[in-house]
Amino acid sequence: MKTKLFVAFLLILLVRILTPDLMIDLQNKKLEDAVMLSKKYSFKLDINYIYSDQEEDIVINQSLKKGNKLNKNSLVKIDVSKGIDYKKYNVNEMGNVPIMMYHGIVNILDNETVTKTGNVDKDGYHRTKESFIRDLEFFYQNGYRMIKLNDYVDGKIKTPLGKSPIVLTFDDGLVNNINILGEENGDLIIDPNSAIGILESFKKKYPDYNVTATFFLNGSLFRQLNYNDKILKWLIKNGYDIGNHTYSHLALDTLDIELVKEEVTRVYDILNDSIPNKYVNIVSLPFGRPYNVEHPNFNGIINTKAALRVGWSSEVSPFNISFNPMYIKRIRAYDNNGKDFDIKQNFDLLENSRYISDGNIEKIVIKKEDMKYLKNTNINVFAY
Ligand SMILES: [Zn+2]
Repeated sequence: MKTKLFVAFLLILLVRILTPDLMIDLQNKKLEDAVMLSKKYSFKLDINYIYSDQEEDIVINQSLKKGNKLNKNSLVKIDVSKGIDYKKYNVNEMGNVPIMMYHGIVNILDNETVTKTGNVDKDGYHRTKESFIRDLEFFYQNGYRMIKLNDYVDGKIKTPLGKSPIVLTFDDGLVNNINILGEENGDLIIDPNSAIGILESFKKKYPDYNVTATFFLNGSLFRQLNYNDKILKWLIKNGYDIGNHTYSHLALDTLDIELVKEEVTRVYDILNDSIPNKYVNIVSLPFGRPYNVEHPNFNGIINTKAALRVGWSSEVSPFNISFNPMYIKRIRAYDNNGKDFDIKQNFDLLENSRYISDGNIEKIVIKKEDMKYLKNTNINVFAY
């Protein structure tokens, strides 16, 4: 009797040693690997495909609990990702992108202005600090996340899934864009009421806002002789960008072509001294002129990959066949009771037409009906 028991014990031990360990974890494995394992260890898979924010064909749920052992022919239920439910997020990478045009940010309240709105001046080129903060809060709460103008032009929109890109620009290099109060241990002390001071506070408040902006400068840069060079370096180091607004802010369509070239080249050369390697290559046209891209003076905007107008509305997706980087429209950041293309009107219009990201820079996701607007591209396209 004892011998029989002993033999049985030995047999069990032998089986145990010869049987492979079947405590298999399929979670986060690729479907093809899960199938391979099921064949190798002869268990059955019951596959259920569901939408998820995970990559396609990844096992996202399994009926197998930790510690459960598999026997031959056991059935394991798995949920496999069929990718993102683009419809749910209304992904639309053929949608429009707002490129905001600001000039000065003035440290006063709305009710201290002549207009009693966020406009400091009648035409709304300068904005109160109060309204600028309101704008930034509004953009964030409405699902907009900032991107670099450069990345928009290059079609490298890194906005997370379900969010919309927005670009901020500032023209004329006004002191109130970044007002330097002094230096402390080699660091610039930035006026918290200047545009950069306010943007930096939003960077802290909403780390996922991706705070950035492009400052378009004339020959006087930021009009702070002792700090201009340091400001330029600080801005680049801290995620902001610089653009060229020409040397003396003349209407380019009124100049002869040689003068146009000089107006543009001089600023590029000055900027190249502080931030080298031709880092800057975008121009914002003074007064938005020439008004027509066919104008011969466009040939004078040399070494330039994009040019900005003084616009009135949002711009098309960079993947749109009609996208012209040399003639980009901007939204004037001003208030006018929802009329004449002010901020409110533009963002109301964008509700039905805005760019909504798939969160994947290597894929363009658009609606089927928009296929006809798609330009030639090397990027993978998915239409739904
Ligand atoms: Zn200007």
